[in-house]
Amino acid sequence: TAVEPVLRVRGLHAGYNDIEVLHGVDLVIGPGEALALLGSNGAGKTTLCAAIGGLVTPTAGIIELAGEDVTAIPAQRRRRDGIYLAPEGRGIFPDLTVEENLTIWLRDRDERDRAYEAFPSLARRRGQAAGALSGGEQQQLTLAPALVRPPRLLIADEPSLGLAPLVTEQIFAALGQLQQQGTALLIAEEKTRNALSVAGHAAFLTVGHITWAGPTSELDTEALATAYLGNA
Ligand code: ATP
Repeated sequence: TAVEPVLRVRGLHAGYNDIEVLHGVDLVIGPGEALALLGSNGAGKTTLCAAIGGLVTPTAGIIELAGEDVTAIPAQRRRRDGIYLAPEGRGIFPDLTVEENLTIWLRDRDERDRAYEAFPSLARRRGQAAGALSGGEQQQLTLAPALVRPPRLLIADEPSLGLAPLVTEQIFAALGQLQQQGTALLIAEEKTRNALSVAGHAAFLTVGHITWAGPTSELDTEALATAYLGNA
């Protein structure tokens, strides 16, 4: 029997008011797999991430987590079921301290201690407002709860946004560590290089359509051109 995928998206349509952004997206992520969701600015990557995380309501289509239809399940419960969305722009509370931000997701002190072990610079800044952290530290703060309690699926929307190359490398190392712990990854990135450094699979989103999907070993310049330019 075939292995149940962690995530299966079928015929997904979604958008904002009368503007449809996703025009029937299909996507599959297997257990422990890392998928790079690539595509230019405005292609709909953030909308797709938000729809899978439960923050954007699809107008049609199905989202399944480990074979269970979660399309109508609210974001909060989806998170408990194992879909962890690290949103574009970090999704932290800038006026709360690092410790307070962590406490939202990690109620136990020993869980927070493990987060600080994973990211020592957060430990040093635990009493400071999250908004005063560097971009890299904010991204660490976003990912820390997932590292402590690995979800079934982690969605990282533009994790490298605004980060220096060395900091980006650290963030991707943390994502790789999560994958080794068995978490499936969906990494949305406009720039291909970082995401492809960890992802074994890639999918290209071009104005609301998946134009190429497959293992990164089969990714060649022709596939890239097709995906980005929309012609073969
Ligand atoms: P980016 O890297 O810029 O975030 P993206 O591939 O993630 O690009 P989306 O952010 O999903 O793309 O945007 C897709 C389209 O939806 C764009 O045309 C954008 O203007 C539009 N859009 C995004 N958010 C909203 C919103 N809240 N209300 C209306 N339109 C939106």
